[in-house]
Amino acid sequence: MRETSKPVVEKVAIIGGGIGGLATAIALRKQGIDAHVYEKARELRPVGAGLSLNPNGLKALEAIKPSLVEQLKQAGSILKFINLRNNTGETTQQKKITLMEKYGQPMLIIRWSKLQEILASALPPEIIHLNHRCVSFTQNHNSVTVEFEGQKTVEVDLVVGADGIKSAVRQILIGDGEPRYLGRMSWRGLIRYSHELLAANEATAMIAAPKNVTLMDVGDGYISWGAKMLCVDDSSLGSAADIKSRLLKEFGEWASPVPEIIEATDAEIIVERPISDRPPLSSWSKGRVTLLGDAAHPMSPSIGQGANTAFEDGYELSEYLAKAPNLEAALAIYDENRIERTQIIQARSAFSGNRAYKPDGEKYLQERLRSNEEFEDWLYKYEPLAIASRMV
Ligand SMILES: Cc1cc2nc3c(=O)[nH]c(=O)nc-3n(C[C@H](O)[C@H](O)[C@H](O)COP(=O)(O)OP(=O)(O)OC[C@H]3O[C@@H](n4cnc5c(N)ncnc54)[C@H](O)[C@@H]3O)c2cc1C
Repeated sequence: MRETSKPVVEKVAIIGGGIGGLATAIALRKQGIDAHVYEKARELRPVGAGLSLNPNGLKALEAIKPSLVEQLKQAGSILKFINLRNNTGETTQQKKITLMEKYGQPMLIIRWSKLQEILASALPPEIIHLNHRCVSFTQNHNSVTVEFEGQKTVEVDLVVGADGIKSAVRQILIGDGEPRYLGRMSWRGLIRYSHELLAANEATAMIAAPKNVTLMDVGDGYISWGAKMLCVDDSSLGSAADIKSRLLKEFGEWASPVPEIIEATDAEIIVERPISDRPPLSSWSKGRVTLLGDAAHPMSPSIGQGANTAFEDGYELSEYLAKAPNLEAALAIYDENRIERTQIIQARSAFSGNRAYKPDGEKYLQERLRSNEEFEDWLYKYEPLAIASRMV
């Protein structure tokens, strides 16, 4: 480990103000690095849904800034039970969630908007530059110059591409084209809703392969719902109103409260997304540019790890930049430590997603809920502080 405490870079441009980019900015700034976030959107628009934060992701966020996790716990819902049901509403399995006891952090379900708000509020507002779409960059031995559409260029020591699954930075750096469509579409919504089957601190997955619906308590009386099904191509179902009426057709016969919840959700906030990933890369970094989160390792959302692994990336990158002898070494360690782990998680997510849509998908998910201990141990026993201290 290096004696001096000065990081190997002074100025960093993080491209993308999603949850990975924001968390990374907090981590880098804590190390004394002048990190700025450049986001193409004119405002930080939350995805109208909730997501699950798992012990590994929460431990990474805690290592970045312990008070973040406290704030998130106040704002979300700590999961106590997961229920599996079929589409007639019959409960086929219930699992008590004991992650907190086993791994020191729970499974926390939270609204996207709350997560984004909490992360953004931990940063000085002037370092988040909205309306900055990165269109290109050029690098030499000493710096990288980043170009934005209609904005001034910036010159920095390092660029972090945290610009999501369709990353412009990845295209310039690697050039591997469009994401790989996995044959399934997803729709998500968020609504204040109460129903006898939607208990606080519980999540329910309803399955009738090749379709499924998840309903999660996200706190404050809100339910986040997600519907997925096999679709031959990734084209949209149409306008917001068309999407809602098609969903009502596809899921209208499902047991209550599925049709009622879709019906009660404002069509304009339903988010439609193809489920896609990309094959793993053997390197994320070239010179003074690297990748993070979905830009580096997009995965099927089957085991809820996309955001969680982005937090791991952000924490580790900040530690390597602070402690490695030089930038080349920092990025080499980052690639070495992150690629292998995320490759395994990508592969597991792809397999699990694919399997759940087969005719016996329900049986597979029951089995996964019963006996997934070995993989969960490996995934959730993530110890950020130990990783950072043994690195150089
Ligand atoms: C249906 C579904 C459910 C999911 N559920 C979960 C879950 O429960 N748990 C979990 O951990 N993960 C979940 N995920 C995955 C999670 O959403 C992603 O892994 C996570 O959002 C990745 O964060 P990111 O910051 O890398 O990318 P993003 O969140 O995609 O953010 C990228 C940002 O970059 C910006 N941007 C893009 N291009 C440019 C450019 N050229 N210049 C500047 N800015 C740009 C975008 O506007 C965006 O703000 C789910 C995903 C889906 C589709």
